[in-house]
Amino acid sequence: MTKNYDPETAMQAGRYLDYGGQYLPEVLMPEINRVAAAYAKYKDDPDFLNEFHTLLREYAGRPSLLYYAKNMTADLGGAQIYLKREDLNHTGAHKINNVIGQALLAKRMGKTRLIAETGAGQHGVATATIAALFGMECEIFMGKMDTDRQRLNVYRMELLGAKVNAVTSGSMVLKDAVNAALQNYAARSDDTFYVMGSAVGPHPFPAMVHDFQSVISKESKAQLQDAIGQLPDYVVACVGGGSNAIGSFAEYIKDPSVHLIGCEAAGKGITTKQTAATMALGSTGIFHGMKSRFLQNHDGQIDSVYSISAGLDYPGVGPEHVALMDEGRAKYVPITDDEAVDAFEYIAKQEGIIAAIESCHAVAEVQKLAPTLSKNQVIICTLSGRGDKDVASIAKYRGIELNED
Ligand SMILES: *Cc1c(COP(=O)(O)O)cnc(C)c1O
Repeated sequence: MTKNYDPETAMQAGRYLDYGGQYLPEVLMPEINRVAAAYAKYKDDPDFLNEFHTLLREYAGRPSLLYYAKNMTADLGGAQIYLKREDLNHTGAHKINNVIGQALLAKRMGKTRLIAETGAGQHGVATATIAALFGMECEIFMGKMDTDRQRLNVYRMELLGAKVNAVTSGSMVLKDAVNAALQNYAARSDDTFYVMGSAVGPHPFPAMVHDFQSVISKESKAQLQDAIGQLPDYVVACVGGGSNAIGSFAEYIKDPSVHLIGCEAAGKGITTKQTAATMALGSTGIFHGMKSRFLQNHDGQIDSVYSISAGLDYPGVGPEHVALMDEGRAKYVPITDDEAVDAFEYIAKQEGIIAAIESCHAVAEVQKLAPTLSKNQVIICTLSGRGDKDVASIAKYRGIELNED
């Protein structure tokens, strides 16, 4: 058990050891404090929680299954493997859990407009989805490089009624979209709520995202208990900003027998520049309103990052993960593109599941870990999303051109 780190105290204060906090321009402080006060007011409010859980059930399709991966278990010949199926949620990933929670809070605060930044577009699509459901206005900020690369997701957001703003400042990627969204937030905070896409950003966002995503581990703990009457020995999840991982870990942080493993994107490898392995290679810095760990140069300029998986292509990680790593409570491992693509094909053939390439970073770790464990040990691996979106790029990675037009 960790000595210095207590998740509840940390979340209340917005300080995870020395990480987290609120690093924002002065003009945004009053509004972020209103968000923090509103969250403190509603986080344990029975009506708020009831509405949240009703939407998770009736709209997102929860609870998600905890599936015993019989074939993988037999093939890998070690631990029993269970898959937490966030890929089965409406919109095909865990992101919907968080966006429902934040949009409900926005409504409670009297806001009528949601904004978000997005890299690959997945968080933008989730935000546009809930804005449509709630009849709210929605504007998504996306670097122009990304709108050009991800035209399908831009069109999806537009179908859902959102306006997509292609940001042309700086290098026209995610970090520039973050700055543009923050500027817009400062100008429009009277009617606008900034929906954070992962367990990142200024307090209270990392705590809020932890809470909304903790439904993953609340369910998995009860489901495994029902199935075999025990705790898992390992919980494995992929880490971009860290929201599906913190949600997968949350209920187990205080169970010292449960090993927590986060899998980050090594891209072409941690000895190359084409990587997104923040834990392995990053250093402490300030960006996106928080103190955390980032890939940055000596002047504190955020590096451009690379991974085959768009969802793990974030130059930092949420502050709570850095605290969990420093405390030795969780371990973070880099997984390369090659390993993730192998895992993508492996789980498809073994279990008949086309999982998101992000999630396959966790599957790759399970492939390494399971054979080293005994048959009475249990691994829960979170499948954060479904992989239909990745099929064309995996084919391309294997040198197969799919001519769809
Ligand atoms: C966005 C995304 C991720 C990475 O985000 P986290 O906040 O680290 O969970 C992982 N998997 C899928 C399927 C995603 O869409």
